[in-house]
Amino acid sequence: MKMAKRTTILLYLSCLAFLVVLTVWVVEFQVRGYLGRPGFLRMHLFYWLTNALLAGITVAWLARMVRHSRAKERVLAEANRELNEAQERIKKLICLAEEEQSFGFRFENPNLVKCYELKNCDRVSCPVYGKGATRCWQVVGTHCLNRQNASWLDKMRNCPECIVYQKACPDKFTELAEDFNNMMAMLQRKAEELATLRRQAVVAERRAIAGEIAAGLAHEINNPLDGLKNCILRIRKNPSNTVQTAQYLDLMMEALTRIEKVMAQLLDLTRGYQYHFAKTNLNRLLDSTLTLLNMKGRAQGVAIHKAYDPSLPQVEGDATSLQQVFLNLELNALAAMPQGGTLLVKTYADGNAGNGEHHVHVEIKDTGRGIPPENMDKIFNPFFTTKEPGTGTGLGLSISRNIVEEHKGEIWAESQVGVGTAFTVRLPVRQ
Ligand code: ADP
Repeated sequence: MKMAKRTTILLYLSCLAFLVVLTVWVVEFQVRGYLGRPGFLRMHLFYWLTNALLAGITVAWLARMVRHSRAKERVLAEANRELNEAQERIKKLICLAEEEQSFGFRFENPNLVKCYELKNCDRVSCPVYGKGATRCWQVVGTHCLNRQNASWLDKMRNCPECIVYQKACPDKFTELAEDFNNMMAMLQRKAEELATLRRQAVVAERRAIAGEIAAGLAHEINNPLDGLKNCILRIRKNPSNTVQTAQYLDLMMEALTRIEKVMAQLLDLTRGYQYHFAKTNLNRLLDSTLTLLNMKGRAQGVAIHKAYDPSLPQVEGDATSLQQVFLNLELNALAAMPQGGTLLVKTYADGNAGNGEHHVHVEIKDTGRGIPPENMDKIFNPFFTTKEPGTGTGLGLSISRNIVEEHKGEIWAESQVGVGTAFTVRLPVRQ
C-alpha cells in the first residue's frame, strides 16, 4: 500500500519535471523563432500529450484521495459512534455504582469463560479452579504460566495478553467495562484495608485510654475493698447482732457491685471493635465514664460538675464507642488542668424547627490551659499532639471524630488560651 503510494508520487514528480523541461524547451523554440520549422509540430503535440497525461494522473490521484478520505471519515464516524456509546454506557455504570453507594457494583459480562476449561488446566489447587466463570485476572495467586502470580499489579500487566481475558472482552466496550470492574475491585479492596486499619486504630486507642485510667482505678477498687474488710471485721466482732449484720451485708453488696461495675467498664474498653447501635442513654453513659475518672480527677484537684438534662432523649448509638469518645475528651480536659480546675459535663437537647430534626448535645468543658488559635485547625488531624513524647498518640480526637461521624453527628471545639476549652458532640436522636 505504502509502496504503491510512493511509486505514484515518484511518477507524478518525474512527469512534472519532464513537463517543466519541455515548457522551457518550447519557450526557447519560440524565442529563437523556430516556429513553423520541421519537427516543431511534433514536439508541440508531444508537449500537449504530456500535459494531458499529467492532468489525468493529477485528477485520478485527487479522486483517489477524496475516496480515501471519505472512507476514512466513515470509519472514524463509526469509531466515534462506538466510543460515544461506550462512554454513555460507562457513565450509566458509574451512576448506578454511585446510587448503590458501593464499590461492590460490577458490570455483568456475559462473555466470561471458565479459564481452566478454556486452557485445559488441571491445577486443582489454583484459587479459581472449579469456581465457574470468574474474573481470574482479579484473583491473586492463580497458577497461570506454571507460577503463582504474586501481585495484582503483576496480573493487571499480563492478563490482557491472555486468551481468557480476550475472550471475555471481545469488543472495546466490554474491555472498557472490565477496566471499570477492575477499578471498582481495586477501590473495594482499598476501602476494606482502610476500614481494617481504622478498626485497629480504634482498638489501640481504646486500650491506651484503658491503660491511662487503670492506675487511678486501683484506688477506685481499693476503697470498696477497704469497706468490705471493715464490714467483715465488725460482723466478726459481733456475729450475734443480726440487725447490724444485715446492714453490713447490704453495704458489702453495694461495694461489690461498685467493683463489678468499674471492672466491667474497664473490660469494655479493651474489647474488640464492632458497632452495635441501640437506644442509648447518654446521661448514664457519661456517668459511667466519670466513675472511671473520678479518682484521677480528685488526685489532680479537679472538681467535676454535672449538668445533665434529665429529659434528654435517647440516641441511636453504639455505647462502647461513644464511651470512648467521652473518655477521651474528659482525659484531654484533665491533662489540660495539671494544677486543678473545673470539669463541666453538660447535656442538652434541641429541636431544630426548620427540618424537624432533633439533636442532643454533650459539652465537656474545662478551665485548663486552652488551645492556641494556630492549633485549632490541627487538633483533629491524626498524630497531632502537643503532649510529651510517649504520653500522647495524637489519635484520640481524630478517632473520636470518626466515631461521631459514624453516628451522623458532629464534634467541634471552642477554646481560649488561659481560660479553657469546650468540646461539643452533637448527635441526632434518630439516624
Ligand atoms: P493526644 O491526647 O494523644 O495528644 P488527641 O487527638 O486527643 O491526642 O489531642 C490532640 C491535641 O489536642 C492534644 O495534644 C492537645 O494539644 C489538644 N487538646 C485536646 N483537648 C484539649 C483540651 N481540652 N485542652 C487543651 N488542649 C487540648
